[in-house]
Amino acid sequence: MHPDAHCELDHGSAFQLLVATVLSAQTTDVAVNKVTPGLFARYPDAASLAAAEPIDVQPLIDRIGMFRQKAKNVVGLARILVAKHGGEVPQTLAELVELPGVGRKTANVVLGVMWKKPEGVVVDTHVQRLSQRLGWTKKTDPEDIEQALCALFPREDWDPLSHTLIFHGRRVCFARKPECDNCAVKEACPSAGDKAEKIGRKPSRGPRPAAKKSSTKVTKKKSATPKVRSRRP
Ligand code: SF4
Repeated sequence: MHPDAHCELDHGSAFQLLVATVLSAQTTDVAVNKVTPGLFARYPDAASLAAAEPIDVQPLIDRIGMFRQKAKNVVGLARILVAKHGGEVPQTLAELVELPGVGRKTANVVLGVMWKKPEGVVVDTHVQRLSQRLGWTKKTDPEDIEQALCALFPREDWDPLSHTLIFHGRRVCFARKPECDNCAVKEACPSAGDKAEKIGRKPSRGPRPAAKKSSTKVTKKKSATPKVRSRRP
């Protein structure tokens, strides 16, 4: 269904992909793709971003969540790239996760997309949900799911596997109302049909606690009750 599955973060170099992936934490690729053209026009490489201050970067990315922390992270990582790696993006997971804002997931996006040598499977919310629906794991923790997928698939499939699952999750196997009738793997999928929606979704946070009544109202109610009772015969 998705022979063209690929990373949907726009970038023109390993440095730009690294920055875009750091910016994509807790937000969508679409939102990141709206801010990176302006950001990369001003700071196209590690050397230019390393010379900036986070406060200069903030207005360019303030349409995405946690932009202050992300501005600090991308300037910080650019400075380390210049100081320790000659301005280039390192090609090992151990070196990548030393950079601010970069965890296993971000590191493996860069290693897989740029150099086709990921050291694990990228497990985002779509990969997490689809791995459970397809019956590949019952685990819910991303690192446990990553281990299960690494054991099931050969290394050369790790990068296309995550892009394919992410494409499928965005276009067919939605968190709510997955389109099982239009899915090419419905015959093989153990979750196909009505039960699919209940599998692999993040647990509900539950109903919001009722708002506390203001102390003024409580005081009024308490003081009103005895007065009414005292008038009864
Ligand atoms: S059959 Fe349904 S639950 Fe299974 S992968 Fe396809 S859309 Fe997802």
